[in-house]
Order: sequence, then structure tokens, then C-alpha cells
Amino acid sequence: MSDCLFCKIVAGEIPATVVHENATTLAFRDINPHAPVHVLVIPKEHVEDSAALAEAGLANDVLLAAAAVAAKEGISESGYRVTFNTGEDAGRTVFHAHAHVLGGTGLSLRLG
Ligand code: AMP
Ligand code: ZN
Repeated sequence: MSDCLFCKIVAGEIPATVVHENATTLAFRDINPHAPVHVLVIPKEHVEDSAALAEAGLANDVLLAAAAVAAKEGISESGYRVTFNTGEDAGRTVFHAHAHVLGGTGLSLRLG
């Protein structure tokens, strides 16, 4: 999608600090981190949300990439959170499916 921020990152039109990449996914640091490790994992193909990600058969790739990011960032053992926001109440701002990988500190259990 030509007007999608994350598609532009995939295309190299907008810079990002890439931490992991393979044929179907790209992972880069969140520009406004909420934890010492805050990486976004996206499918290279534009799909809108987590349900569309699953329907496209890409959810597995994104979750495996999230685990690879955790390993690279050294938080596999200490623990991390993988989050998908959907819709306004979840504070969704970018409509290209993405998993937030958060860790590197004790994370609050607060859900809202
Ligand atoms: P969400 O609220 O789930 O839609 O998350 C969108 C995330 O994208 C937010 O955490 C933003 O900080 C992050 N973000 C927005 N623009 C960029 C960018 N150019 N590079 C990296 N992360 C970004
Ligand atoms: Zn997109």
C-alpha cells in the first residue's frame, strides 16, 4: 500500500533500525520505546491486523521472528511480551499488522 508507513519501511523509503529480517518478515526498533527492548515485527506483505495476518498464513512467521528477536536481544530467558493492538480502544495507530516485542525489564501486568 503506497500510503502505509510500514510498507514504506519495508520498501526502504523510510529509515528504521532493523534488528531481524527474513523472506517474509521485518523487525525494527519502535521509535517511541516503552521498554528497554521494544521491537516491532511486521509481515513484509501488507495485511491490516492480527486476524488478517492469520488468514494470510503469516502469523506463524511473525511469532517465530518475535522469538528470534528475543534471542538476539538476549531476553529469551528473562522473558518478554508479544502484543497485537486492534482498534481504537487498544490505541492502534498504524494499520499494517505488527507485533510489539517488549522486554528487558520487569513488565507491568496492567492490561489497560
Ligand atoms: P500501534 O499503536 O500498535 O499501532 O503501534 C504503532 C507503533 O509504531 C507505536 O508504538 C509507534 O511508536 C511505532 N512507530 C510509529 N512510527 C514509527 C517509525 N517510523 N519507526 C518505528 N516505529 C514507529
Ligand atoms: Zn503496509
